[in-house]
Amino acid sequence: MYNFFPLRKLKDAFLIEGEELKHLNVRRIRPGERIGVIWEGHIYLCELESVNRKEALCRILSKLETEEPKVYLKLIQAVPVELRTLDTIVQKATEIGVKELIPLITERSFRKEKVLEQKRERWERLIKEAMKQAGRPQPMTIGKVTHLSELTPDCELNIVLDNFYRGINIGTLNIRNVKSVCIVVGPEGGFSVNEGETLREKGFIPVRLRPYVLRSETAAAVGAGIIINLADS
Ligand code: SAH
Repeated sequence: MYNFFPLRKLKDAFLIEGEELKHLNVRRIRPGERIGVIWEGHIYLCELESVNRKEALCRILSKLETEEPKVYLKLIQAVPVELRTLDTIVQKATEIGVKELIPLITERSFRKEKVLEQKRERWERLIKEAMKQAGRPQPMTIGKVTHLSELTPDCELNIVLDNFYRGINIGTLNIRNVKSVCIVVGPEGGFSVNEGETLREKGFIPVRLRPYVLRSETAAAVGAGIIINLADS
């Protein structure tokens, strides 16, 4: 089922306009067909009633029950030097169920904060697209750009993915009933020895993913996906 963001809610219907209307037309959805509408943290099953050049009207059939992650997952992601990789991470993290993404500045990450601030609108758009694709009713938020030195382990469980350190196996983490997990992922060049130490001293538990060295974006997706699924099992 295709999902859309409406412009407005009427009593028992939604109005879709603008870019979203274009998407609807591209997908050749016709009156009588069913679509999902994402509105204020919920997805509504709707039937398209009418479409004209300005708007589409869809009637609400029911509010869908969606399954949400059992854990608040905060992904603290060193910003890749190739900034487009962060777009991929934003997209994947939204699909996987990450609640909050913190762009992290490290010795070997992308470091221009001003450039990052200009990307927020783009990230918002990517998040919305990923929500539609994944059928996710609630957005992922992107927090303040943070330097590694300012980082605090403010989740119930705090881990750092570190391929240089003999950390514990991710599968052995006991996260049942843990309400929040912070997971730190390094940049392409990895953390420096000092940074690895600093993170451990701050209280982030080192975890190594077996068996190989992954790209930063792969490590983020695998780590986040495992945590969310472990929390749910
Ligand atoms: N250039 C480094 C690799 C860095 S990988 C090297 O040559 O070793 C980028 C980031 O992904 C790492 O800092 C770490 O956070 C994460 N990562 C990649 N593979 C990992 C693994 N096997 N276990 C844990 N973290 C990993």
